[in-house]
Amino acid sequence: MAVLNKWRKISIQDFSARFSNPLLREAFPLIWLPEFPMLSLLMTFAWLHTESAGYPFYNFDPTFAEAGKTVLKVMLPSDYNYWQSLREDPERYRAEKEKISDKVVSLLDKRFPGMSAQVEMRDVATPVTFHRYTGNLQGNFEGWMITPETWNMRMNKTLSGLDNFYMIGQWVEPGGGLPPAAYSGRNLIQILCKKDKKPFVTTIP
Ligand SMILES: Cc1cc2nc3c(=O)[nH]c(=O)nc-3n(C[C@H](O)[C@H](O)[C@H](O)COP(=O)(O)OP(=O)(O)OC[C@H]3O[C@@H](n4cnc5c(N)ncnc54)[C@H](O)[C@@H]3O)c2cc1C
Repeated sequence: MAVLNKWRKISIQDFSARFSNPLLREAFPLIWLPEFPMLSLLMTFAWLHTESAGYPFYNFDPTFAEAGKTVLKVMLPSDYNYWQSLREDPERYRAEKEKISDKVVSLLDKRFPGMSAQVEMRDVATPVTFHRYTGNLQGNFEGWMITPETWNMRMNKTLSGLDNFYMIGQWVEPGGGLPPAAYSGRNLIQILCKKDKKPFVTTIP
């Protein structure tokens, strides 16, 4: 736990500044988001080391891809404002998505020769797409950015003046994604049990 705590307190950006080698100084913040804690980068390195990191393939469920085919997802950090202003010119917006898609496929083809010839369809989603589908601020997809400051942040789940109103989900449980959204609901039930002086009991289905 002490080791985890040590590496979650420094951002990738701040850690990179310690390198005297200019290549490492520049490269580290490009691997993950520079604001993320170093811990997330170390976890990635550990996965790479044990050869368990990679691109997610979605053929484990027949509703994602028909037999013999798969869906491959590649995610790149991007700037909401850039895409938002581009969106005002639909032709340029579409062309930029196409350009990036071509680049990603050609890079993957270098790593997996022949792959590009097997690509049957592509779909590019930008932060503007995420915003359109989720309504989340600036196309955020996992709530608050995880930084050394927000990693362990506790947020109020009530609003003053509104009795019996509680919030759960990614915006009140920093950490990002589905697991925190789920345990946010669990945490709230625990809080309500305490308030009602009832025992908080969990079971495994
Ligand atoms: C493209 C994408 C990929 C993702 N991939 C992953 C992943 O691989 N792993 C992972 O852990 N997480 C992933 N996430 C994040 C994860 O989906 C979210 O963190 C999680 O769904 C948040 O849950 P939530 O309950 O807080 O919010 P939501 O799931 O957004 O639920 C909020 C609900 O409230 C409803 N709502 C909003 N306003 C109102 C209103 N005024 N009245 C009534 N209802 C309203 C909405 O319709 C919605 O159903 C991904 C997200 C996106 C967009």
